[in-house]
Amino acid sequence: MPIPTLIDAHCHLDFINFDKDRDEVIQRAAQNGISDIIIPGVSTSNWQKIKALCEQHKNLHPCYGLHPYWVDQHQENDLEKLENFIDNTTCLGIGECGLDFRAEQADKKKQQYFFKAQLDIAERKNLPVIIHSVRATEDVIQQLRKYPTLTGMVHSYSGSYEQALQLIELGFYISFGGAITYEHARKLRKVASKIPLTSLLIETDAPDQPDASHQHERNEPAYLTEVINVLVKLRSESTTKIAHHTISNVKNLFGL
Ligand SMILES: [Zn+2]
Repeated sequence: MPIPTLIDAHCHLDFINFDKDRDEVIQRAAQNGISDIIIPGVSTSNWQKIKALCEQHKNLHPCYGLHPYWVDQHQENDLEKLENFIDNTTCLGIGECGLDFRAEQADKKKQQYFFKAQLDIAERKNLPVIIHSVRATEDVIQQLRKYPTLTGMVHSYSGSYEQALQLIELGFYISFGGAITYEHARKLRKVASKIPLTSLLIETDAPDQPDASHQHERNEPAYLTEVINVLVKLRSESTTKIAHHTISNVKNLFGL
């Protein structure tokens, strides 16, 4: 059977983890049927690298943002820098931005501030947002309700099915990665099995979040096939059907 074409909706191909063999990683992705990759920005320091990478490879697509995980590094004027940067380059979306309320991610107030400010930018520029939400889905939904015209995706989704339906209602896609390949992730797998095909995306979040077959290894976009294989089993739908819908969803969202 030929390998179906897939799009990795979220992959940090610019991270230093790929500096030594990035060309091989891109090649392996293509060999495994990954036609395109969306690369989200996480801080001012990586935007230029993403820009250069996406100019070099036409199937890599850039987004720019300020990730909540690195909130301590972000400065007030980074928001102005973000707005100027996206005015002067190709940019498919704002992000990765959002909220991370794990205990070690203390500065909730600063996270909220940068998240809201980036939602404002996305609204002004009419761009979709890529949202990181860890133990914060309720807060994310509360914020998004204030922006009825915004669209976007919640990457590596970890909330409940009910919350997913609220996000879909608000115009958001729900994206799943390596986490669903672990058998013990019962709750998450149940959610992934029920999301409507018209709102479903797949991603690797590489180099992070490797699937069960590559546990403790560096993740890479070629492993997206593991994610879709698990979805096929969980949902009892064909690979072709899931591939077709997730591709058309990502194209719709980012205007590819
Ligand atoms: Zn990410």
